[in-house]
Amino acid sequence: MTLRNFDPQTADSLQAELNRQRDGLEMIPSENFVSMAVLEALGSIATNKYAEGYPGKRYYGGCEKIDEIESLAIERAKQIFGAEHVNVQPLSGAPANIAAYEALLEPGDTVLGMDLSHGGHLTHGHPVTQSAKIYNFVRYKTNAEGKLDLENLREMAIEHKPKLILVGYSAYSREIDFERVQEIADEVGAMTMADIAHIAGLVAAGEMNNPVPIFDLVTTTTHKTLRGPRGGMIMCKMKHAKAVNKAVFPGLQGGPHENVIAAKAVAFKEALLPEFKEYARQIKLNAKVLERIFNERGYRLMFGGTDNHLLLIDVTPKGTTGAEAETALDKAGITVNKNMIPDDPRSPMDPSGIRLGTPALTSRGMKEAEMAQIGAWIDEAIMNRADDAKLESIRQQVKLMTAKFPLYEGLEY
Ligand SMILES: *Cc1c(COP(=O)(O)O)cnc(C)c1O
Repeated sequence: MTLRNFDPQTADSLQAELNRQRDGLEMIPSENFVSMAVLEALGSIATNKYAEGYPGKRYYGGCEKIDEIESLAIERAKQIFGAEHVNVQPLSGAPANIAAYEALLEPGDTVLGMDLSHGGHLTHGHPVTQSAKIYNFVRYKTNAEGKLDLENLREMAIEHKPKLILVGYSAYSREIDFERVQEIADEVGAMTMADIAHIAGLVAAGEMNNPVPIFDLVTTTTHKTLRGPRGGMIMCKMKHAKAVNKAVFPGLQGGPHENVIAAKAVAFKEALLPEFKEYARQIKLNAKVLERIFNERGYRLMFGGTDNHLLLIDVTPKGTTGAEAETALDKAGITVNKNMIPDDPRSPMDPSGIRLGTPALTSRGMKEAEMAQIGAWIDEAIMNRADDAKLESIRQQVKLMTAKFPLYEGLEY
């Protein structure tokens, strides 16, 4: 019984979503397109198995083959990042961070994390999260030029004596000097944690600094630039291995999603290929083209530009807002997300900026020439945001372009 025969309603929605992914320009920087091999593992029979525990030490029988799969994922992750210990069970990035805090901290401990509007993530201590009720998060900010300010970080570390210094961001587009952060942590006796959820693929390819050999602990998602299934992962020094494993299971989670772990293993194999290095290099080249176009056209780039896969752009100089720009771009077939800019005077639901990135389009094979055209379309859509006919005409041109970069050829629901 196929999905289409059994449940045409779900099949219809999946097909429509596939068409949306095919026809539009996906520029949300946390999104990507996994390979058919990753999809196959994700949809595999490994989903049927309960395997609470870890390879070789499970609470259920029949885990021999599942152990092989999970061990493969762990070994490949170690190889990619140079990690001493890896836990591939976190269900996603947020639970990976919660488990990491549980492994390293006691309730009430102080953590230095970056402010959300300056590029940090909700899970780095935003008051709406449960973690913020358990630990004492102190938020640092980027400096007036918009860069990560390690001198200020050092001063705050000396003042607040944190147990943990947390770096790694969601909307920050610059390189991070992990060695300097580690020196600061050593000076005040703090532990270090990096959340490389966004940049993991670039780190894996050697296109950005790698904190794993330096820091106490590193968390990541596997579904952003790393181009694997939706999931999380924790890498750490051996001295934290036991605490990390305990924090993930039984501390936070139950049975691991072994189909997802199988898909992680496949994605890690891909990340070890020379083609993946090329992919990561192209992600950055493509982002640089967009940086140039938006500079030329008078937008304000936060953090002064980009060293990675994303741009955070203040659209208010164009007389519009993040929400308005997002809506206009949607109509033009270009998907981005509205985003706060540092110390945004506007509200989270209608902030000053948009955030966009190149990982998904680069996965489709798009290069510099396409980026130049796309940058021009984005500007045109924003400048003509009230002109539905103009937005529709861009959408038609977008469709012609995307048709030249087939996505999941032959796939049908
Ligand atoms: C995306 C992201 C997360 C959360 O990942 P989810 O899989 O959505 O839970 C955590 N930290 C950072 C820095 C992120 O960008």
